[in-house]
Amino acid sequence: QIREAGVAAALTNHETIDLAKRHLVQPWPCAGEIGAEARSLISGGEGIYITDGEGKRLIDGPAGMWCVNVGHRREELARVMYDQAMQLSYNTPWYTMNEPSAVLAERIAAYAPGDLNHVFFTTGGSTAVESALRFMQFFNNARGRSDKKLILSRGGAYHGSTYLSASLNGRPRDRDWMDGADELVVKLSSPDAFRRPEGMSIAAFSDMLVAEFEETVRRVGADKIGAFIGEPVQASGGVILPPENYLPRIRKICRDNEILFIADEVVTAFGRLGHVFASEDVFGIDPDIITFAKGVTSGYFPLGGMVVSERLLEQLRRSNHPTAMYAHGLTYTSHPVGCAVALTNLDLLEDGILAHTQAVAPYFQQQLKTLEELPLVGEVRGIGLMACVECVADRESKNPLQLDTNVGMRIDAHCHELGLLVRPLINMCVMSPPLVITREQIDDMVGILREGISRTMDDLRHEGVW
Ligand code: PMP
Repeated sequence: QIREAGVAAALTNHETIDLAKRHLVQPWPCAGEIGAEARSLISGGEGIYITDGEGKRLIDGPAGMWCVNVGHRREELARVMYDQAMQLSYNTPWYTMNEPSAVLAERIAAYAPGDLNHVFFTTGGSTAVESALRFMQFFNNARGRSDKKLILSRGGAYHGSTYLSASLNGRPRDRDWMDGADELVVKLSSPDAFRRPEGMSIAAFSDMLVAEFEETVRRVGADKIGAFIGEPVQASGGVILPPENYLPRIRKICRDNEILFIADEVVTAFGRLGHVFASEDVFGIDPDIITFAKGVTSGYFPLGGMVVSERLLEQLRRSNHPTAMYAHGLTYTSHPVGCAVALTNLDLLEDGILAHTQAVAPYFQQQLKTLEELPLVGEVRGIGLMACVECVADRESKNPLQLDTNVGMRIDAHCHELGLLVRPLINMCVMSPPLVITREQIDDMVGILREGISRTMDDLRHEGVW
């Protein structure tokens, strides 16, 4: 596809993979293969499709990493990058400022709930989360509340790969071999209703989570806790939906105890749930800070940010330490090219993609739900255009499959053959395609996934491991 677009590839697939194996460190590598992993090559993309190194067209099931929201190869976005770079490719936000970042901040503020009206732009999601947490630390230092710094985070969470953001992560494999700032973090249970205690209703499960939250605040002390951070829908944890009313109840406890509520909308913002932000429009909450990234540029440029409440800024302005400095900034803060891309991306979302997402999401969920007919599938859950197919060894007990069954990887391999890229997460397949996906393409996607899972069931039966 790229070659057709006029950019000649200099290397053969084999040469590219060989170079990568010799010189590239891939993300999330295992020790035994670090620096020598052979991942498959992707050479192009268009709409909901990507092309692999063999020229095979695949549906981009995870939209990259939940980010290519308006789809691949949008000329509008390519053009605005070129135009902005020719106008102003960079400016130092320390001394000066630029128009695209100011206009984007104003547009984001208009969408953000409540009085969230100031934006700090970062390079992506981890730096957005890091900025929000460092803001909380600064906020409490400047108010003379230096003891109020602990961060509440949950099992199943994913908040990033910088030191502090990664310290919040709640998926076991993220922390098994990695250190973290554990002294700053208090962990709460995952809101995963599929794995709730047996026999418990979802309403009782929600009560249990809220009671745990209240008990933790009592035990640790509200004067020690600076923030709670949570993804409205836990994404990388397996599309974990919050039980009804749980988020508003947690929000209230935070407000009552002066604990900042940080909604990590790195995945859910900019269209994934059919809205620019999901906190208020989907879940009825008004956080103190929202972090975003990914969909803000549909992945075309590394950009993220946090939107922070006017009330917090006002408290800082009136603090006893007017010269205290939020000593936090990034070379690429308010990058004019990134912000210009985001503005055009937002135009595309407003000009029909948000409405389209809202229109196709029920069909997407309904069709994927039919996969629950397959005996390997324990649950299909989701909201908007994000969903997860969770496989189990046994549907009654919900027992997970052994790790080394590699069920997700097997499904992914079959689906790749059939024309769909899956994002395997151990025993789960996450689907979050580009938002421009049509009903017919949803049929194709679900059909391939069904066949991939069926073939995996055949393999597992054959090998006697299921
Ligand atoms: N927060 C959430 C909810 C995420 O899903 C991610 C990335 N998957 C991040 C933060 C980190 O973002 P980035 O990879 O852009 O640093």
